[in-house]
Amino acid sequence: MSYLKEVFEKIEKRNQSEPEFIQAVEEVFASLEPVIAKHPEYVENNILERITEPERQIIFRVPWVNDAGELVINRGFRIQFNGAIGPFKGGLRFHPSVYLGIMKFLGFEQIFKNSLTGLPIGGGKGGSDFDPKGKSDKEIMRFCQSFMTELYRHIGQDIDVPAGDIGVGGREIGYLYGQYRRIRGAFENGVLTGKGLTYGGSLARTQATGYGVVYFVKEMLEYNGKDLKDKRVVISGSGNVAIYAAEKAQQYGAKVVVMSDSAGYIRDEKGIDVELIKELKEVKRVRIKEYLNKYPEAVYVENQKAIWEEKCDIALPCATQNDIDLESAKKLVANGVLALGEGANMPSTNDALNYFLDNEVLVAPAKAANAGGVATSALEMSQNSIRYNWTFEEVDKKLHDIMINIHKEAAEASKEYGLGYNLVAGANIAGFKKVADAMIAQGDY
Ligand code: NDP
Repeated sequence: MSYLKEVFEKIEKRNQSEPEFIQAVEEVFASLEPVIAKHPEYVENNILERITEPERQIIFRVPWVNDAGELVINRGFRIQFNGAIGPFKGGLRFHPSVYLGIMKFLGFEQIFKNSLTGLPIGGGKGGSDFDPKGKSDKEIMRFCQSFMTELYRHIGQDIDVPAGDIGVGGREIGYLYGQYRRIRGAFENGVLTGKGLTYGGSLARTQATGYGVVYFVKEMLEYNGKDLKDKRVVISGSGNVAIYAAEKAQQYGAKVVVMSDSAGYIRDEKGIDVELIKELKEVKRVRIKEYLNKYPEAVYVENQKAIWEEKCDIALPCATQNDIDLESAKKLVANGVLALGEGANMPSTNDALNYFLDNEVLVAPAKAANAGGVATSALEMSQNSIRYNWTFEEVDKKLHDIMINIHKEAAEASKEYGLGYNLVAGANIAGFKKVADAMIAQGDY
C-alpha cells in the first residue's frame, strides 16, 4: 500500500464522523504523490499525520437570551489548525449546519490557502451552529457578545485572528470586537479582521474575496489565451463573495445572468443589477426572489440546485460546500462551460472536480481563487500594526498582485511536479510545501 494511502486510512478511521474533513484531506493527498516521492523528509518527519491533526480544538457553550426572554444554548468552535507560519487566521461561520467536521475541513483548507498568499498567517476556523436567519439585531448582538465572552481568551493579534464567513459580516464583527474590547480593556483591533472602517477596518476588505476570485479567473483565462469579455457567467450565492465577484466580472465586460440564495435563483438575461442585489441582501436582508419586484421580466426558479443546469461559459460557485456534485458537473460540461472559479470553500465534490479536469474545463480551485479575502485580512492586520490606512486603490492593487502571484505559484508547482497545467494540484503542492518546511524547521511539534 502506498504511504499516502496508509496515512489516509488512519485519518479516515480517526475522523469517521466528519465526512467533509475527510473529503478535504483526500483532495489534498491526491495531489501529493509526486511531492512525497521527491521529498523523503516529509515522510521521515511524519508531516502528513501532523498536518491533519489540529494543534488545538476549542468547543464551548454559548448561552444567550432571545427576544422572548428564553435562554438559548448554542455550540461554539475554534479550530487552531496549524500555526507554523504565522498566527492562526480564518473566519467564523454562523450557520445551523456547523459542527466539528465542517470546522475542521475549513480550518484544514485554510492552512494551504493562507500559505499560498505568501503572507505570514497560519490556518484556523471557527463558528457556531447559531442560525442568524430571522433573528433581530439585538439577538444577533447578544449572541455575538456571549460567543466572544468565551472566545476572547483563546485569540489575540499574535495568537489567532478570526474574521467573517457565512453568516458573519461587518455587523457581527462589530459586535464581536465591542465585546472583546470591553473584556480586555484595550484597543487591540488587530485581533479581528473585516472590521468597519471607523475602527481599523481595511478599505477593499469587503470586496476582496469576490474581486480576488475574478482577478484569479481572469489570470487563468489569459494564460490560456482567453478573456472575460462577453462571457456568460452563472454565480451561486448572493452574499459577500458572490456580490463582489459579480461586480468585478461585470467591470471586465462579462455578462452575469444568474445569482441565487439558499431558496432559489434568479435569471436576468439583461444582466443582473448588482446594486439591487446589494440592497436586498446587505441592507434589507430579504430573499433574492424580491428582485422580481423591480424586474418582473426576470425569472425566479425555486430550486437552488437547478442553477447548474443553466448554460454558461463561466461558473462561479460562491455559496457553500458541495454545491456542485458529479451530476451538476456533467450538466455544466454538456452545456459547454469553459471555466470554473471556486469562490466558496470546497464547492465541488471530489468526483465533480475530477470530471471538470478530465473534460479540460479550466479550474480555479478555492484555496487559490478565494484567497484574496484572507490576504486582504492580513493586509488589514499590517495596517493595524503600523496604525495607518492605505487607500482603496493601494489595497486593491496589492490584492490584484497577490492573486496574480498565487496563479503563478500554482501553475509553476504543477509544472515542476510533472502535472502540466493543473491548478488544483499546483495550489495544494505550493501551499503544502511552505508549511511542511516550516514544521520541519521547528522540530517535532
Ligand atoms: P454570506 O453569508 O455572505 O453568503 C452566503 C450565500 O450563500 C448566501 O447567498 C446564502 O443564501 C448562500 N448559502 C449559504 N448556505 C447555503 C446552502 N446550504 N445552500 C445554498 N446556498 C447557501 O457568506 P460569504 O459570501 O462570506 O461566503 C460564501 C462562501 O465563500 C463560503 O463557502 C465561505 O466559506 C467562502 N469564503 C468567504 C470568504 C469571505 O471573505 N467572506 C473568504 C473565503 C471564502 P441565504 O442568504 O439564503 O442563506
